[in-house]
Amino acid sequence: MLPSKQMATRLEGAIQFRKHAAQPYDDRIFRFLPGADQISIWTLTGRIKLPFICGDRQRSLLAYRKGEVDLMLVRGKWYLAVVCDVPAPEAIGIEDVLGVDFGVVNLAFDSGGRSYTGADVEKVRSRFALKRAVLQRRGTKGAKRRLKKLSGKEARFRKHTNHVISKELVASAERSRSAIALEDLTHIRKRTKVRKAQRNRLAGWSFNQLRQFVTYKAGLRGIPVVSIDPRDTSRACRCCGVIDKANRKTQHRFSCVHCGYEAAADFVGALNIRSKGVQALGAALVISAP
Ligand SMILES: [Zn+2]
Repeated sequence: MLPSKQMATRLEGAIQFRKHAAQPYDDRIFRFLPGADQISIWTLTGRIKLPFICGDRQRSLLAYRKGEVDLMLVRGKWYLAVVCDVPAPEAIGIEDVLGVDFGVVNLAFDSGGRSYTGADVEKVRSRFALKRAVLQRRGTKGAKRRLKKLSGKEARFRKHTNHVISKELVASAERSRSAIALEDLTHIRKRTKVRKAQRNRLAGWSFNQLRQFVTYKAGLRGIPVVSIDPRDTSRACRCCGVIDKANRKTQHRFSCVHCGYEAAADFVGALNIRSKGVQALGAALVISAP
């Protein structure tokens, strides 16, 4: 988002635009030329044809294009932003629920026992944090400029990782014909009392974005997503059902004070989220034939 002072402003009746403000085109002045990877734009000096490149997936989505197209200059490259209205597929017959715990130890952990961390996430994240701290301490104009650049880079890294994780999660759910149960994230900050080092880690990740990605990717595959209240999902025992704060001695380990059941904390979380998801979906679950 651009700072508001740079946005188009109305001055003495005349509209002023930023030099490279996004330019919307409608169907009268803009066309995709079928089969040619070219667009045609009506300009002040007549119609011009321009080539464009895009991925196969994006090309297939063009069939669902709707409304205006925005031409934008982003970091020195020209992009076309196209709105596509893809019809939702038929909901698949659901036989199970995949519980997903968003966490501190792993970015995500599912009730099938799989962790989704992205091998280098922690390494890259701490490298960014270190660079940021150095630049913040310096505080010069140049340092501030580099800080801004760094935060853009970091945001793109998070976004990419969230795309990868959400894709894998949705693929797991599809394979096991499962709905996906996610925790309602409005609680995530309140529920986790963690040490400072880990608080940074949690605050620095965009779990809301990850959640949005999972939701829309699942929607495209006809996989239902249920949102559940995560209360007690990190401290309820899978074995005896006792709910106790003391069951969660560390971030990593679940250890029941009542019956002695022990497991990885995020696995227990994912299983409890799955149970709540099964409860929420109830009759919607199709019992598979033997
Ligand atoms: Zn127990």
